[in-house]
Formats: sequence, C-alpha cells, structure tokens
Amino acid sequence: MKRLSLFLLSLVVAIAVSAKPFTLVIDAGHGGKDPGAVGKTLKEKDINLRVALAFGKLVEQRMPDVKVVYTRKTDVFVELNERARIANRNKADLFISIHTNASASGQSARGTETYTLGMHRAASNLEVAKRENSAIMLESNYAEKYEGFDPKSSESYIIFELMQDQYMKQSVSLAQKIQNQFRNCARRSDRGVYQAGFLVLRATSMPSCLVEVGYITNPSEEQYLGSAQAETQLSESLYNAFKKYKATQQ
Ligand SMILES: [Zn+2]
Repeated sequence: MKRLSLFLLSLVVAIAVSAKPFTLVIDAGHGGKDPGAVGKTLKEKDINLRVALAFGKLVEQRMPDVKVVYTRKTDVFVELNERARIANRNKADLFISIHTNASASGQSARGTETYTLGMHRAASNLEVAKRENSAIMLESNYAEKYEGFDPKSSESYIIFELMQDQYMKQSVSLAQKIQNQFRNCARRSDRGVYQAGFLVLRATSMPSCLVEVGYITNPSEEQYLGSAQAETQLSESLYNAFKKYKATQQ
C-alpha cells in the first residue's frame, strides 16, 4: 500500500512537472521616458519593441506549448529590477533582452552582438554595459534600490567578477545560436558573443542573454533597422535560435 501511494505521488509530481509550460520572457529594452540610444531618425526603444513583439508573435503562433511573457508591449518605462522581477515571478525558463547598440562618437561600427552576464574582458564590452545600465538613473532612488551601484563607475563592475553564474553554460549556448542565426539567416555582420555586467541580467534567476541587434549610429544599419525586412529577419533569427535552444533543454 505504501509503495502504491508512493508510486501515485511520484506520478502526480511527474505530470505536474511536465504540464508546466516552458516560459519565455521577452524584454524590449528601454521605453517611455527612456529612449535608449538615439539615431538620426530612430530611437532604440522603438526598434527593440518592434523586434520583441515580432519575435514573440512567431513563438506564440508556432510553439503553442511555450508561454510568452513580455516585460512591456507598449511605449512605457519599466525599471530594470522590475523587468527581472517579472521573469522571476513567472518562473521563466529563459529571459531574452533586446537592445540596439551605439558606438562612441567618432567611431563607427556595425553588426550584432549577444551578451551573457559576466565580467567584461574588453573595455568596449564594459562601455556597452555602462550605457545599458545607465537607464537606472531615470529611476527614483536608484542608488538605494541598486545598493549604491553606480552605472558609470568602473569600480562598481567588480562585483560581476565575483559572481558565479550557474546558468552561464546555457546562456552562452543560446547566445551562440542567436549570433549564428543573425549571421546566416539575417546576413548581419557577426561581432560575437561576450560577457559583461548588465543589471537586468544580474537579477534574473534563469538562463538569460542580452542581444544588440545592430548599431543605430551607423546610417546604413539605422536604415535597415527601421525596415520591415529587419523586423522579419531579426525576429525569424531569434525564433530559430530559441527553437534550437529549447530542443536541447528537453
Ligand atoms: Zn539598450
């Protein structure tokens, strides 16, 4: 009898576990009062949202077993901690943050990069994290909320060196798949996979990465990022990478 009830219990647990849908959180960077990087005609927040919604729609249409959660679906400001909280609250299996890059004035760059949480090895990666993290300066009491973290100070980033990211392997595997798709499916210039200290990734408790879909500061890339073709190609690339990643997680 005891053995039977144990068997039934494990059966119920197994069914409950398998019934939990895979939850994907798609985070369109910036929004509302925070435009992100600004180009000649476009704002980063709008590019991020268009790509995020198009990517999510593909997943919803083609993978009905996946639950898609958006941190924002409109042009609103969402704090970085809140974006991570949305993912944690939904017990997400994966978190993908979508951004658009900008090069420092006087420099030119083009192409896509995908980041996972970690310590930067190159100063240029730190600059990307500094720029993305500076969104918290638009939040009230940011010093208090982020425990004195100063997004502009290099010293603040030392904490990322001490962090052990248990999801690093899965995050890097997804990041590589995304870059492969950007290169082969969207024909974008592949700038690689890197680590850097992004606050939005630090607070999430699941595999995660942050995608930079192109440089808004590059005139021809800005033109591309504003096109319907970009929306299709970038969202298809993210979808393909996600599908391949999910297949390795079962
Ligand atoms: Zn951004």
